[in-house]
Amino acid sequence: MGLSLSELERYDRQMLIHGWGTDGQKQLKATKVAVAGIGGLGCPVSIYLAAAGIGKMILIDNEKFELNDLNRQVLCWQRDVGRFKVKVAKEKLELLNSEIEVKAVAAEITKDNVYDVIGDVDTVIDGQDNWKTRFIINEYCVTHNIPFIHAGVSVLHGQITTIMPGKGPCLRCIFPKDPPEAEKIPVLGATPALFASLQVMETVKLVTGLGRPLVGRMLFANGEEMVFETVEVKRNVECPVCADR
Ligand SMILES: [Zn+2]
Repeated sequence: MGLSLSELERYDRQMLIHGWGTDGQKQLKATKVAVAGIGGLGCPVSIYLAAAGIGKMILIDNEKFELNDLNRQVLCWQRDVGRFKVKVAKEKLELLNSEIEVKAVAAEITKDNVYDVIGDVDTVIDGQDNWKTRFIINEYCVTHNIPFIHAGVSVLHGQITTIMPGKGPCLRCIFPKDPPEAEKIPVLGATPALFASLQVMETVKLVTGLGRPLVGRMLFANGEEMVFETVEVKRNVECPVCADR
């Protein structure tokens, strides 16, 4: 898969990164990523993936934008309130980068449809705001050996880890019991923006082989105290999802 002259110019600044070059850019172009949820995390994730030149993105969300999404879901402008998130996102991402392919899937991920909705991708990015769906995606990714980049945010804090099936713990190893669900999570828009940036960095690292991915480690950031901390997370040998894999 080659790069056009316009692509060489568009991605010039990132191809200058040591260890990236045209090879890294071609790898990105050949990569297919699913963004599961186009909310506070999914909007900036898909913007930066589009800007970086990820070849194909599958955007999954069944909701329409509401006015109270505007403080964080940056692909939604005032005129987009009431429209399907994935449709709006696809339009804008293609305006940002017409050299990539964006597929909009207006569906809610369930146990029954997860295979059809996510399908065969290289990486899945967590843009969910509920644990039930996260664990469905986690199981799907473990079963199909797909890296899953989890992040969760609220208020001014959050956490991120990269799940690499067989190489580190899965989400169920880390959270043996379902954490409590919140109906409405209080959050400042800059918080998911921060974690979305980290998710994109992890994605790009997995594709290009740059750096050390956040596998077996979880990064917590607390914006109130402005403290960032990384802790080791381990596989559970009795994990019901990944133990016998
Ligand atoms: Zn596990």
